[in-house]
Amino acid sequence: MAVLVAGGAGYIGSHTAAELVDNGEEVVVVDNLVKGHREAVGECRFYHGDLTDICFLDSVFSENKIDSVIDFAASSLVGESMSKPLDYYKNNLISVMNLLDKMKEYEVPVIVFSSTAAVYGEPENIPILETDRTEPTNPYGETKLAIEKMLKWCEKAYGIKYATLRYFNAAGARIDGSIGEDHDPESHLIPIILQAALGKRKAVQIYGDDYPTPDGTCIRDYIHVTDLADAHILALNGLREGSGSGVYNLGNGKGFSVKEVIDTAKKVTGHAIPVEITQRRKGDPAVLVASSEKAKRELGWEPRYNDLETIIESAWRWHSTHPDGFAG
Ligand code: UDP
Repeated sequence: MAVLVAGGAGYIGSHTAAELVDNGEEVVVVDNLVKGHREAVGECRFYHGDLTDICFLDSVFSENKIDSVIDFAASSLVGESMSKPLDYYKNNLISVMNLLDKMKEYEVPVIVFSSTAAVYGEPENIPILETDRTEPTNPYGETKLAIEKMLKWCEKAYGIKYATLRYFNAAGARIDGSIGEDHDPESHLIPIILQAALGKRKAVQIYGDDYPTPDGTCIRDYIHVTDLADAHILALNGLREGSGSGVYNLGNGKGFSVKEVIDTAKKVTGHAIPVEITQRRKGDPAVLVASSEKAKRELGWEPRYNDLETIIESAWRWHSTHPDGFAG
């Protein structure tokens, strides 16, 4: 029996697929390679195609004995979603609808779904609990919230069980340095900082220093990508063993401002990191920090790489040895 990893050539998907393989699982990866990288997919059966293409997806389900799905496939940039909301609704919702259709048809009983802290919008409490208000401030978060609700109704109607994982800020790279983060264009803070440290960009633009935070820059909860991968595997195994559906935050419960992340990266790399202050990025809440107590309690999850320095060190190992990402 195989685990279908949708979006398994992307950043978090490829790290999870690699951990699944290490755990002895048979893994089938599907990816349209719009953002993902074929080189990031290790010992897995690979299908190049789009989840919005139902005929393609049918061939994946008919050619493999799939017992579970982990779905990472989505457009996931807050800024881009503000200017292209319809693309986000189309890509994100249709992909999951097709996946669920095929799961229903082929009687695949469980799905682990990638959601996001962006479902909360401006938080009412810090740290954020799963039961807190969900009011996204951008279309990306809206699409993920819509899918979370879709999963709830599909469980009632078709019995498909789910674990929804709301990630905070995924960061870092596989500890052996074999795979890491590579987006084009890069929009995420830590890779951008490390590109500046490598001299590949002139400066890091800090998107606003007038937020209501101690140093005026946005605060985020950075979580190592392998810790995220571990949580997916625990959630998947829990569902397979009969646990009920659930929604879980995944973060380290500690927030760092953009300036603090830059300072830590200076220390880790030993390089200068020039900065310039620019305008706020639309759709960015000031502070996002998770309570992940529920994941710890119910999934038995314990992050292994939970300090910012270790996270940045692993990212630096990847970026400094692959300055052009997978193309290098
Ligand atoms: N950020 C920034 N400059 C950049 C990229 C990001 O100041 O070049 C900030 C951004 O406003 C946010 C934080 O860094 O507060 C993390 O952004 P990222 O895009 O990495 O992740 P997101 O929070 O959007 O998931």
